Amino acid sequence: MEKNVALTPFAAAQAAVLRAIKQLSPVRLPLEKAFGLVLREHIRADRPLPPFNRSAMDGYAVRHDDLAKGLRRFRCAGTLEAGAAWRGTVRHGECLKIMTGAPVPPELDAVEQVEKSRTEGAFVELLTGEPERWQHIHRRGADCKKGERLITAGEPLSPARVAVAAAVGAAAVRVTRVIRVAVIASGSELVGTAKKPAPYQIRDSNSRFLMARFSEIPWAAASFGGVIKDDPRALRRALAAALKKNDVVIVTGGVSMGERDHIPEILKECGVKNRLYKSAIRPGKPIWFGVKGAAAVFGLPGNPVSVAATFSEFVLPALRKMAGYASVILPVLRLPLAAPAKKKHALREFRVGCYANGGAAVAPVPGYQGSGDFVSAGRSDGLIVIPEEARELPAGTVVEFHPWRF
Ligand code: AMP
Ligand code: MG
Repeated sequence: MEKNVALTPFAAAQAAVLRAIKQLSPVRLPLEKAFGLVLREHIRADRPLPPFNRSAMDGYAVRHDDLAKGLRRFRCAGTLEAGAAWRGTVRHGECLKIMTGAPVPPELDAVEQVEKSRTEGAFVELLTGEPERWQHIHRRGADCKKGERLITAGEPLSPARVAVAAAVGAAAVRVTRVIRVAVIASGSELVGTAKKPAPYQIRDSNSRFLMARFSEIPWAAASFGGVIKDDPRALRRALAAALKKNDVVIVTGGVSMGERDHIPEILKECGVKNRLYKSAIRPGKPIWFGVKGAAAVFGLPGNPVSVAATFSEFVLPALRKMAGYASVILPVLRLPLAAPAKKKHALREFRVGCYANGGAAVAPVPGYQGSGDFVSAGRSDGLIVIPEEARELPAGTVVEFHPWRF
């Protein structure tokens, strides 16, 4: 076992992981199968949007200059519904009854709402105040021109972007397929959630945490590879099986210095090439990362807060790179501390923190007991970054905050 391995500074460690990860090749999928996946091509407008002068109200379309001249009583030339085109012309002194979404004929340039009208037989009186040209008309090309880029490659197809893609006829799109991830919990002390633990046992929470995180990520699908005892043969079997079927394998526990910490050795035996072992961070110092062909393997230290922190800081950026994200590193918030934070070491610390002052500030979770304290983690909104060189950060210091979710 490698003892006394030098600690790689956080930035270099994260860079080493990202360097070893390759984007998956794009595939073409029907839009309906691509919801939430990362787009690998730009989506452009196939025509101007709106494609025609769209009535934004149910009401009456008229000539603005008629209104400007003070005319308020119009002869109604007919009715135009959405999904139809008006054939013929609307003359001066005439109006067209029009529905929301119907194309305003070219000679008309103002719409008045039906609420501001009174009908008198074939005539309509409009109760328009100061008339504005183009009022209640969503003009052709106002949102975008034909050919304009509407969605940039490297962004996930969120519901709002799916709507845009659908509106411009992107019936099939280039995306990254769903990344297959295996989650394995290792540790002889672990039992499943539903089991009654012996006094010296604990329940596995790490694999539940990771599976739950993946349930929020539409572009990756995690399968659970089980709770495995610290037994080299059982671990080898579970890891080898996971490596066969997945793009990413995440195993928690068993990467530190204990006699029963077999994971680094076993991963090497499975043909995984180590690219990072130990980073100058707390928690999560013994993180292990390697690659086998295109597959990536993370050995995360078993303490629950270590798992949460190393997942956010290493695994998620790596997965985003694999998925084809343009911005691999997650956005960070910069917020002032509502309470002071201290540390005594020279490591980069990820301290569980909560929003304070309605989200305008952040504060360390009081009473935090270190990396094994999943109770504090469960009360937190994310991680406060305490830089390597910092020792005492007074209240008011602006810190990086990495929220669990945006
Ligand atoms: P290890 O990294 O195996 O040395 O484990 C560090 C600490 O995390 C130990 O106290 C373990 O009992 C605990 N731990 C390891 N795996 C899990 C897990 N899946 N769920 C909860 N705690 C764990
Ligand atoms: Mg262990």
